[in-house]
Amino acid sequence: MCGIVGIVGKSEVAQRLFDGLKRLEYRGYDSAGICTIDHGELVRRRAEGKLENLARELAQEPLGGTIGIAHTRWATHGAPTVDNAHPHIVGPVAIVHNGIIENFKPLREELIADGREFKSETDTEVVAHLVAREVEGGASPQDSVATVLPRLQGAFAIAFLFRDHPDLIIGARMGAPLTVGYGDGENYLGSDALAVAPWTQRIAYLDEGDWAVVRRENIEIFDRDNEPVEREIVESGASSARSRRAITATTCRRRSTSSRS
Ligand code: GLU
Repeated sequence: MCGIVGIVGKSEVAQRLFDGLKRLEYRGYDSAGICTIDHGELVRRRAEGKLENLARELAQEPLGGTIGIAHTRWATHGAPTVDNAHPHIVGPVAIVHNGIIENFKPLREELIADGREFKSETDTEVVAHLVAREVEGGASPQDSVATVLPRLQGAFAIAFLFRDHPDLIIGARMGAPLTVGYGDGENYLGSDALAVAPWTQRIAYLDEGDWAVVRRENIEIFDRDNEPVEREIVESGASSARSRRAITATTCRRRSTSSRS
């Protein structure tokens, strides 16, 4: 696992998402990527290795858009290549994920039997397909996520971006941390308070099984039973200048799994 940042913004987000990834760099990673919605399309840049490589991609081909998700990956399923780097895009849905989907193999087999084609070796891509299948079948983003989350076993923090909904990021967590940040006319998602620290100090930590519907003007949080819930908004006190030593306790660990390839 490693880092997630999301912005439903009122101004361009690509550089800010990159800066958010820089603040999550301490958690370790082997590749990184950013996806935004630009002129009605999901567009992304991804790179192996250090964030400087992603910065080079962004400099060569900048990303526009006022909404986006970003990710640092610590590979568990599939080598740390560009094709396996997140965000993964399937039809109208883009996704970033930290953690492991333990039951990805039967889900992948089900999706392949349904005629769906995979472009990566990751466990993550099954989630993108499951949600895309719901959306393509006419379900709303919220209903799609609510349908798919109970099917996932394992540990995850996930953020979804929907091509046809440029005012919406949905985040979900189970066994991996995810926070939402409350801004002024824009709102955020982050793996921790540090990710969003320059933009807001007002954050809420999602509980296990929670999922959050993040829009520019408001954030709604639902529990694992899809009931609306309130989570306390706290002043994070995080600043980018915070000691690295104080935060290394949350550093991502490399996981070894039999399915790592
Ligand atoms: N299991 C996912 C992958 O290998 C996510 C890894 C992570 O937590 O960064 O792509």
